[in-house]
Amino acid sequence: NMDSTNIKRQQKDYWTLDKQHVIHPYTNFEKFSDEGSVIYAKGKGHHIYDEQGRAYLDGIAGLWCVNIGHGNEEIAETMAKQSQKLAYYNTFEDASSKPMAELGEKLAEISPGALNHVFYGTGGSMGNDTAVKIAHYYFNLLGKPNKKKILSRDLAYHGSTYLAHAITGISSTHMSFDLPHQLVHYLTAPYTYRNQGDRTLEEFIDFLVDEMEEAIIKIGPDNIAMFFAEPIMGAGGVIVPPGDYHKRTHALCKKYDILYVSDEVVTAFGRLGKMVSSKYLFDVEPDMCVYAKGISSGYIPLGATMISDQIHQVISKPKKDNPYFSHGFTYSGHALSCQVGLKNIEILERDNFCGHVSKWGPYFEEELGKLSEYGIVGEVRGSHYMLALEYVQNKETKESFAPEVNIGKRVYHHAKQLGLIIRPIGNLNVLSPPLTYDQKAIDNTINIMRESIERTIKDLIEEGLWQQ
Ligand code: PLP
Repeated sequence: NMDSTNIKRQQKDYWTLDKQHVIHPYTNFEKFSDEGSVIYAKGKGHHIYDEQGRAYLDGIAGLWCVNIGHGNEEIAETMAKQSQKLAYYNTFEDASSKPMAELGEKLAEISPGALNHVFYGTGGSMGNDTAVKIAHYYFNLLGKPNKKKILSRDLAYHGSTYLAHAITGISSTHMSFDLPHQLVHYLTAPYTYRNQGDRTLEEFIDFLVDEMEEAIIKIGPDNIAMFFAEPIMGAGGVIVPPGDYHKRTHALCKKYDILYVSDEVVTAFGRLGKMVSSKYLFDVEPDMCVYAKGISSGYIPLGATMISDQIHQVISKPKKDNPYFSHGFTYSGHALSCQVGLKNIEILERDNFCGHVSKWGPYFEEELGKLSEYGIVGEVRGSHYMLALEYVQNKETKESFAPEVNIGKRVYHHAKQLGLIIRPIGNLNVLSPPLTYDQKAIDNTINIMRESIERTIKDLIEEGLWQQ
C-alpha cells in the first residue's frame, strides 16, 4: 500500500537525519550509531505515540515534567492566543508584560514564606546558575566576599550548564568536563538504603548532620554561600531523606548564615501532592526556591528562581558606582512562556491535581512496593508520583549487578515492548508519570512492570547472570 510505504520512507528519513545531525542529551555514542532514536510523534493525556502510531503509557511524564498530561487543548489555545497578541518582547531594565507580572504574583503566592521575588529563565540549570550568581552578588554587597562555596550532596542532580553540572554530585557524569569543582563541597547523600550501614535511622541522620556541620567548620562558614538540596533527590536515584534531615540541615544553614536553596525542579507543581514540597511536605522555608519542568508542564521552556525578601532587599538597594544587576537572558520572562505557566498553574489548581496525587500516590507506592517480592528488586522507594525500583544481584548483601548487565535497561526494554515507558538509570528504573495517572493507569503500569521483571529474570537465568 502506497500510503504506508510513503509513511515508512518518511520515518526512516527522520531517523537517519536525526542520527546524522543531532547530538542528544546524554548520548551513548556507541549504541547511538547503530540504533539511533525512536521518533515520537504525538501525546494525549498519559499516553505517548511513536511515528508508527504505537501507544505507550508515559510512565515518566516526558522527563518528570508533563504534569497536566499531553495534548492539553486549553494550553494549545492559550499558546495560540498569546502568540497572536504578544509572543515575545525583551524584558531588560524597564520592559515587562502582563503574563510576566501576573505569573510573578502567582509564584509568590504559592511559594513559602518570604519568597516573593522571581527571576525567570528557561529551565532548571539556568535557575540554579541564577541562584548561585545571586548568592555571590548578595554576599559581595554585604561585604562578605569570601562567602562563595557551595555545599551539595553526592548524587544530587542540579543540571547541565557548567555551574549546575558542577553542583551536581553524580560523579559518573563529571568525567572529562573539567567542571569548576573547587566551588563545591559534596556531602554524603541521605541514601538510607546504601549509606545507613549498621546505624539506626536516628544515628544515620545524626551522622549526616554532624558531617555537614564538621564540613562547615572545616571550610569556614565565612567561605560558604549556600547549600543546595532537592527535597527528594531525583536523577540521583529518587532518594527520600530520612526523618527530620531537611529540618536539621536547614537549621545548620540558619546557624552559620548559609543560604538554603531548595531545588524544586521536579518536586513542585503537584508531583508529591503539593504545589511546593520543601515547606509543605518537609517543613523547611528556603531562602531560594528553583522551579522548572512542572511550572509549564513541559509545554514550553520556563524556569524560575524565587528569592526571599531579605535577599531582594540587599540586591535591590541602589548602588552608586554601577546601578545595574547585570544578569539576564533574552528569554527571561518570555511573555508566551509566562502565560503558559499561568494557565498550567490555573489548571493544576482548578482540577485539584494535588488532591488527586495525594489520593492516588499512596496507592501507587503500595502497589509498586509489592514488586519488592522479586529476587532482583532490592528496594522500591519514593513518594507519590516520584518512584523508583533499585535492582540488586543479591538482596541480602545488596550487591549490585555489574554495570554491563544493564539491568535497568533490560527491564525498560521489556516494559517498552509491553507498552510502558519507564526511565532506566543504571541499576534503577524511575517512574514519574503525568499527574493525570488514575487507578487504571497505575494498575496497568504495575502489571507491565511485573511482567517485565519476570521476563528479565528469565533472561538473566538463561544467560547465567543470576540464580534464584
Ligand atoms: N534540578 C533538578 C532537580 C532536575 O531534576 C533537573 C533536570 O532534570 C534540573 C535541575 C535541570 O533542569 P533543566 O534540564 O531544565 O536545565
